[in-house]
Amino acid sequence: MSETRTTAQAGGRDQDFLAPAARLRGAGIGGLEELTDLQRSERLERMRSGELGSIHSWELVTAVDGPGTRMTVFLNGCPLRCLYCHNPDTFLMKDGEPVEAAELLRRMRRYRGVFRASKGGITLSGGEVLMQPAFAARLLAGAKAMGIHTCIDTSGYLGANATDEMLDTIDLVLLDVKSGDEETYAAVTGRELAPTIAFGDRLAARGIEIWARFVLVPGLTDDPANVENVARIIERWGSVSRVEVLPFHQMGTDKWDSLGLDYRLRDTRPPEPELVESTRAIFRAHGFTVY
Ligand code: SF4
Repeated sequence: MSETRTTAQAGGRDQDFLAPAARLRGAGIGGLEELTDLQRSERLERMRSGELGSIHSWELVTAVDGPGTRMTVFLNGCPLRCLYCHNPDTFLMKDGEPVEAAELLRRMRRYRGVFRASKGGITLSGGEVLMQPAFAARLLAGAKAMGIHTCIDTSGYLGANATDEMLDTIDLVLLDVKSGDEETYAAVTGRELAPTIAFGDRLAARGIEIWARFVLVPGLTDDPANVENVARIIERWGSVSRVEVLPFHQMGTDKWDSLGLDYRLRDTRPPEPELVESTRAIFRAHGFTVY
């Protein structure tokens, strides 16, 4: 995110929250094979098998999306419609670029030395990575086989799409808990909270490390009772090693406009530093390391 990264630099931030197109220069899909000549049915079959995926872009980042220097791949498609989404251009799978898993794995292999030296790895983000579980599974298994640290950035809403076999290939999950109560969760995302809780329970039971993330939006998610509920939810997951409170920013507005979508947070301001601090304090009171 480089120049526009402001408030969440030290501890990373919500990959969904900040727009990939506004991030590191030199990223994108350049150099990846585009499969424009495949027949539609053949392409669908290859997507089903996970040989082929639909991605927005990829990039190399440091100190965000997990530890060290990471290759982050943004997959297209998301079942949620978060009011604050900064990547509305990843909502639909059809809007992504077709890319072979093998090509991405070749690229990951080239960066192995960088990952090793920085204690980094790969992160699959989006959109929602679990919209394309077969593709994600191939990338994760392939990276793991190369000894690369693996991470997914997810809302957990489609956690049921992750097989146990897939979970065995994941070292870290950046799990967005977008609200602590059902009504607010529905207001923020248009969907239910329960699948995220179920996914977190499953990760915790397997001992998979979690970084829990919460986007703080004045007037939407900032009620202390809501934040307290988020803290209580993640408290039951023994494998949470950090909590990140990510202050809302107006950085996705142009994308919503250019897509002709109704952006409802146009008049919402970023939270005041005092609100950010009091929110972080709620998580700290539950014993979490908070960024
Ligand atoms: S879960 Fe989907 S809609 Fe919500 S912020 Fe992430 S990409 Fe956007």
